[in-house]
Amino acid sequence: MTERLCLVHYHEIGLKGKNRSTFENQLVTNLHRALRPYDVTNVARVSGHIVVEVSDRLATEELAAAIRRVPGVARVSLAYKCGLDEDEYCAAAVKALGEAEPFSTFKVHARRSSTNYERHTLEMNQLVGSVLCAAFPEKKVDVHHSDVTVIVHVVQGSTYVYASSAPGVGGLPVGTAGKVVTLLSSGFDSPVATWMVGRRGATCVPVHFSGRPMTADTSEWLCQDIVEALAPAGLIGRMYVVPFGERQREISLAVPQSLRIIMYRRIMLQVSERIARLEGAKALVTGESLGQVASQTLDNIAAVNEAVTMPVLRPLIGSDKQEIIARSQQIGTYDISCQTAPDCCTLFMPRRPETHARLAQVLEAWESFDHEAMVEDLVANVEWRDFSQCPSYHAPKGALREHHRELMPLSGDER
Ligand code: ATP
Ligand code: MG
Repeated sequence: MTERLCLVHYHEIGLKGKNRSTFENQLVTNLHRALRPYDVTNVARVSGHIVVEVSDRLATEELAAAIRRVPGVARVSLAYKCGLDEDEYCAAAVKALGEAEPFSTFKVHARRSSTNYERHTLEMNQLVGSVLCAAFPEKKVDVHHSDVTVIVHVVQGSTYVYASSAPGVGGLPVGTAGKVVTLLSSGFDSPVATWMVGRRGATCVPVHFSGRPMTADTSEWLCQDIVEALAPAGLIGRMYVVPFGERQREISLAVPQSLRIIMYRRIMLQVSERIARLEGAKALVTGESLGQVASQTLDNIAAVNEAVTMPVLRPLIGSDKQEIIARSQQIGTYDISCQTAPDCCTLFMPRRPETHARLAQVLEAWESFDHEAMVEDLVANVEWRDFSQCPSYHAPKGALREHHRELMPLSGDER
């Protein structure tokens, strides 16, 4: 019986020289991890592709779907793997084309890489084409604009035959773009923002600020569900949780009501920046989208951003809510984000939040409470949970408490 396997295609643009093997090796490692629920026996690079084989030699659509969720995967084909026997690969081509229905026109595209197989590709095209014409007499060959192309690819001693492929999520393998800390709430936006930077190759370390002990810990569980839902993409190795309720109450008593949210956010960014330094992360990520809510005007973004020196990436800044919702459905976080839970954002909300904060007022409010001690205290009390879904995540060595030195505030020269 001819083997069925998954053939993984990735974009080769920008992957020249040394970069390319780093990229390919990381993708192989990530696929191994993402496909643990399947009985995978081999994930290997073969001539510009990655092949994924399973123990019963019958790769399924379900396996292909799991592969398509891994960043770096451009397309996946369920392919037949044959020897060099022409009857065998012609029979596989008939099966592959039959599975590509509905279509009216087709063509054959034979390729040879690193092989001493004697047949020329033109000859192979003719041979396979004539067998397909006989098997599908009602279909037409169209070499310029065919509905389906049957690929017959000879590599070393094997022939891979397939006629269709479905798109993957694209992007770059997680682990090829460094580490980021992402501010994760259980809303729609930040899980999507996290996924988007992960898809560009960043290893993501989410930090969630919960309203505990002033609220229940529901939002923490929802965030954990979000991390689990993102598992097939393999972006996250650890999530931090910062109980923020008590400190928010202090802030709400100390500063003008309209500036509360800006103060919360500045504290959130500073704590996240400290965690990022401990983690060796190079940027922070939020799910902000310009003008979506009062806190996301340019004035307010600037007033919050001023609290940190690390770059803050906002992958959704130009996205509309509908686009974000559609993406959250695609990546599997939508249903979780539909559940509402009080978190630190719903706690002590002002009736009329400032929409155009002036920096002088923001800084005055900022100096009216001991923000340094607050950040110190929050950092000292962060909690975390590890997940085994992300092979590129490496935790900082030792327990967090032993690393307080690294979590110290930036000195004057560093800022
Ligand atoms: P989201 O849908 O991500 O909750 P939002 O539309 O509710 O966003 P805001 O509440 O203004 O918008 O939050 C803006 C961003 O601030 C979020 O996308 C997220 O990155 C960060 N953020 C908000 N709340 C929290 C939280 N409790 N913990 C961590 N980050 C948060
Ligand atoms: Mg929110």
